[in-house]
Amino acid sequence: MSIDDIAAFDFHSHVVENRSISELKRRWIDSHSSVLATDEKNREKIAELFDRQYRHQPMFEGLKQYVSDLYGVGRTVEEIDLAISENSKEGTKKSIRRIMEKENIEKIVVDVSGLNHPPSPNPKLEQYPEGAFLWTMGTDLWLQPKSEIKDIEEAQEEIDRILREALRNGCVGFKTWMAYYRCLDIENVSLEEAKLALSELKQSELGTKRLWGIDIPIGRDQHSQRAIKRFQDFMFIHLCEFAADSNVPILIHTGGVMSPAIDLRKANPIQLYSLFYNPRILKRLPKIVMLHAGYPFHNVTAGIAGQFPNAFVDLSFSTGVRTAIDQVLSTFIGVVPPEKILYGSDASTVTERLGYCANNLRKALSSLREINKDRFGYQTDSFNEVARMILNENSRDLLKQRG
Ligand SMILES: [Zn+2]
Repeated sequence: MSIDDIAAFDFHSHVVENRSISELKRRWIDSHSSVLATDEKNREKIAELFDRQYRHQPMFEGLKQYVSDLYGVGRTVEEIDLAISENSKEGTKKSIRRIMEKENIEKIVVDVSGLNHPPSPNPKLEQYPEGAFLWTMGTDLWLQPKSEIKDIEEAQEEIDRILREALRNGCVGFKTWMAYYRCLDIENVSLEEAKLALSELKQSELGTKRLWGIDIPIGRDQHSQRAIKRFQDFMFIHLCEFAADSNVPILIHTGGVMSPAIDLRKANPIQLYSLFYNPRILKRLPKIVMLHAGYPFHNVTAGIAGQFPNAFVDLSFSTGVRTAIDQVLSTFIGVVPPEKILYGSDASTVTERLGYCANNLRKALSSLREINKDRFGYQTDSFNEVARMILNENSRDLLKQRG
């Protein structure tokens, strides 16, 4: 039995659409330069600099190599884009199926955050092969205070109604990407404090920042900013309790080293200790997955996953960079209980990324097996057992896909 024979279960990805590597790069440059730009002229300058720094960027270089090997073409961007476009003529559904077969991927969990707000499956999921995918959704829209909300009870009822409908439609997990707009220090806020925060916010004039289709409220002063945070904290703990009662995991974006939209001071998973120690969380023990392994703070997520029985780590994003997955996996294999580690790709845009990430993880697992012979013995069975958990069984168990 080799690691290649273990089917992969991709815990976290985004919509892939048969797009080229150039387009993926262009999208990233556009969004990253808009985050930092002070004005239009300056945005162009920043875009130029990003364009230059992405020329030898490890993720793009690795992906190019993978596609070049996959289709037997040269390594220039033009040749690779052409190969992707030639092979995608069969349509997205067939491309996804072909990549899944090639890399032995059994199931993909697609996160639809930022795509749709109603809790229905997104129409884009129709381009996935039948039976090959599951989906999770972003919840950030319902964590925000809104002027039309009468009181906290109404806000709770609204989110409950949305989440229940989502579960009925097949949703298997609730995600937050709050690290893009605030810190991960989620405090224990009482009902009275939340009520007070909401009534303060109803009297103050708030600004907004549009982020992935959602208006994120911005306080005009520190006082109202603090009230916004208290409201979000309260709603998030409520969401965690709902997830625990429904037995579906909570997914939290942690870390991030590509987009400047992520301020690592805020996205550091060390801030999640306030959540894990919260008595309401300890009482219900919702399963909490720290997405992207908290990279580059994977030592921190490794610690948390070992300390709290309801904490899990997902390898997505780092599986997209060979050197990153080597680092993360060797840290995790050393200290994290293997039942807690989930394979994910974080693939988006380019369909081939689904295969590239699975391929990277298998390579990283194979080289670790060699290094860890003194722990796992020269018989590979015990290491393969760990590999099977990481590649497949842990996601299936967490998402209740196993009998
Ligand atoms: Zn993601």
